[in-house]
Amino acid sequence: MIREYCRPTSLDEALSLLTEEAKDRKPLGGGTHLSRQQEAAFGVIDLQEIGLDRIATTDQGITVGAMTRLDQLMATPEVDLEIMRAIQIDAAENIRNMATLGGWLITSDGRSILTTVLLTLDATSTWEPGKQKIRLGDWLPLRNQAPPGVLMTEVAWAPTTHVAFEYVARSPKDRPILVVAVARWGSGRTRVTLGGFGDTPILAMDGPDSSGADVASRDACFEADDQWASAQYRREVAAKLAVRCVQRLDGFNGSEV
Ligand SMILES: Cc1cc2nc3c(=O)[nH]c(=O)nc-3n(C[C@H](O)[C@H](O)[C@H](O)COP(=O)(O)OP(=O)(O)OC[C@H]3O[C@@H](n4cnc5c(N)ncnc54)[C@H](O)[C@@H]3O)c2cc1C
Repeated sequence: MIREYCRPTSLDEALSLLTEEAKDRKPLGGGTHLSRQQEAAFGVIDLQEIGLDRIATTDQGITVGAMTRLDQLMATPEVDLEIMRAIQIDAAENIRNMATLGGWLITSDGRSILTTVLLTLDATSTWEPGKQKIRLGDWLPLRNQAPPGVLMTEVAWAPTTHVAFEYVARSPKDRPILVVAVARWGSGRTRVTLGGFGDTPILAMDGPDSSGADVASRDACFEADDQWASAQYRREVAAKLAVRCVQRLDGFNGSEV
């Protein structure tokens, strides 16, 4: 239950409110998750006026402010079409209008395609205080235990990487029970991540090329048993989805990569 609301106009002001001793205050992104929390009374620091909703693209990569709404991300031409497709499957239009990238990464579980794709892209998040940068692969498994700061300010990834994902769900509108995402860099480096189960997506492979993506995906599902599908089913399907992703990436013109 929200018992205090503050809307700072600068990052410094937001940080001082969030770090004030003996105050239980949380950053407020789009509020789609936070506004449903009823179990305890807490204050919220609304981040909408502190300038964290900008998207910058350079040769080095794309940097997306943590307050960027999912629909804003989808409307950005520099954003890979696979990221747009992931958002479209993950979130209905009303959620896309409100939810922010930061709030999504903090709350989404292993069944999020967007989070699976950003993990594949080896995205990095930046946290305050201290401008600490941490790769999603290092942060996601520990995000409930040891946050690197009180506020995520941005998320960045390389724009020239080619990425593809494939998924299975019980119906087109249902959440996935398995997602395989593959990213490939110009050097041939290939990362494979899996989602559709568990608390967060997981890394299956980070290798010099795509060979073994199917075996790595199969092995990563060793314990992927839950109420939606057996590990054995996921093992078999993961290998096939990984092959499909690699075939799609092979279809890109080599000079583009
Ligand atoms: C109807 C509905 C359907 C959904 N479907 C899915 C789904 O299919 N898959 C899925 O994975 N999730 C789903 N979700 C959950 C979704 O991941 C979150 O509701 C949403 O993305 C949170 O974003 P937000 O910006 O609204 O965050 P908020 O609700 O504002 O905040 C969420 C949490 O993140 C923290 N936070 C927010 N921004 C920051 C920041 N910049 N730095 C530090 N902490 C921050 C807040 O303090 C809070 O703890 C669904 C939610 C709803 C309401």
